[in-house]
Amino acid sequence: MSAPPPSTGLPGTIITQPPPPTTTRESRIATHSHIKGLGLADDGTAMESSQGFVGQRSAREALGLHLSLLKQGRYSGRPLLLVGPPGTGKTALAIALGQELGQRVPFCPLVASEVFSGEVKKTEVLSSCFRRAIGLRIKETKEVYEGEVTELTPSEAENPLSGYGKTISHVIVGLKTVKGTKQLRLDPSVYEAIQKERVVVGDVIYIEANTGAVKRVGRSDAYASEYDLEAEEYVPLPKGDVHKRKELVQDVTLHDLDMANARPQGGQDIMSVMGQLVKGGRTEVTDKLRQEINKVVDKYIEQGVAELVPGVLFIDEVHMLDMECFTYLNRALESPMSPYVVFASNRGVCTIRGTEYDGAMGEGIRSPHGIPVDLLDRCMIVKTEPYSRNEIRTVLETRCRVESINVAPAALDKLADEGEASSLRYALQLLTPAAILCKTAGRTEVTVEDVSELGDLFLDTKRSTGILKELDAAAKK
Ligand code: ATP
Repeated sequence: MSAPPPSTGLPGTIITQPPPPTTTRESRIATHSHIKGLGLADDGTAMESSQGFVGQRSAREALGLHLSLLKQGRYSGRPLLLVGPPGTGKTALAIALGQELGQRVPFCPLVASEVFSGEVKKTEVLSSCFRRAIGLRIKETKEVYEGEVTELTPSEAENPLSGYGKTISHVIVGLKTVKGTKQLRLDPSVYEAIQKERVVVGDVIYIEANTGAVKRVGRSDAYASEYDLEAEEYVPLPKGDVHKRKELVQDVTLHDLDMANARPQGGQDIMSVMGQLVKGGRTEVTDKLRQEINKVVDKYIEQGVAELVPGVLFIDEVHMLDMECFTYLNRALESPMSPYVVFASNRGVCTIRGTEYDGAMGEGIRSPHGIPVDLLDRCMIVKTEPYSRNEIRTVLETRCRVESINVAPAALDKLADEGEASSLRYALQLLTPAAILCKTAGRTEVTVEDVSELGDLFLDTKRSTGILKELDAAAKK
């Protein structure tokens, strides 16, 4: 079945398939899988340990306040800047903020050094991340048949063209709804869609009246059966026999739309149809294409068909960006299509990259966190504090639970000591190798000896720097 032409609102078949996720940079987020939110009580105060978050209470409370401003729409292009020593939970806080905004809100993490990939322009990388962090929630009221499938009977007929062989002439679909069971005689194209969705008797489906698009929405075991279908072709749904109107919602990001329109493909799924917003077969995302898409998106928003869902763009190590990037950011933050931007830095006063030849003695312009003062001025700044030994121990315990690692209490104490002497991140990094050592030795519980052995195998930053200094001193003698 070919894709229907775009109608007054959006093209008709957006119910068929969810878009591929594009805002997932999963591996980076995996180490934060224990973080489920900011862990705040109803009055906004941070609980000592809640939703995976331990300590860091004033930063969590500040983010809670920021969150309520965002939710009230009182956000005016003011980025949040998280500053604090390495491993003090800046990324975890940004992720928690995203989670608090809701599951369907996009979250796009970027480490600033990624913009210097060499192959793609710096501002292009930033641009695509901005668009990954902006969602578009598309709402459509569709006329649909909805119910539980009680019967699926494809009918075969002689093929009139060839004179021999059989084709599917129609399919009978029994739909059990709240009003009783209805028998629909549907055309072969609907049967194709039914097969594609792998619908069997007992599934709850909807069939869109205008386009015949089919969506499997669940399963009712009352009618479960192994009934499966096989056939080749089909006809249009009976007109004027609509069961109900239903509001369907689909979430995509502006980046999804850019990509789909840059490489449009035929087909019925959401991305293929959305890929026909802008005419012409393109192969790459250009500023012009983005502008055209923005126009169409504006039109949908005006028509009430879609709504913008600003997500979170998290830029870690923001001090790694250069002047050109900061200039871009200043402009992008002014746009009405801007996500909520969260920066993080573990640096104090340092040179703004890209200004090395501008300042006195060619050293460049120095500024807090390497951020130009005009941008810094717009930021709401929240600081994170180093952790106590007890807090480190609790985070380690939480991670052990999530990763199903069994650690003896004494070994956990030793890991907490390591964390206190070095950093929380170093202690967390020891967990997996400790579990491997323990498994190799045929044990089920990580012991103090495992942790000590790791201390001989790996260096933390302090020890590594110390060794280098000693070598340096020896070489100078
Ligand atoms: P960097 O400055 O090096 O980027 P960071 O401040 O962003 O570091 P994170 O990456 O957020 O630090 O934290 C390191 C690890 O510790 C992550 O696995 C994170 O989930 C966990 N973590 C940090 N703080 C907390 C906390 N308060 N509660 C629970 N887990 C935490």
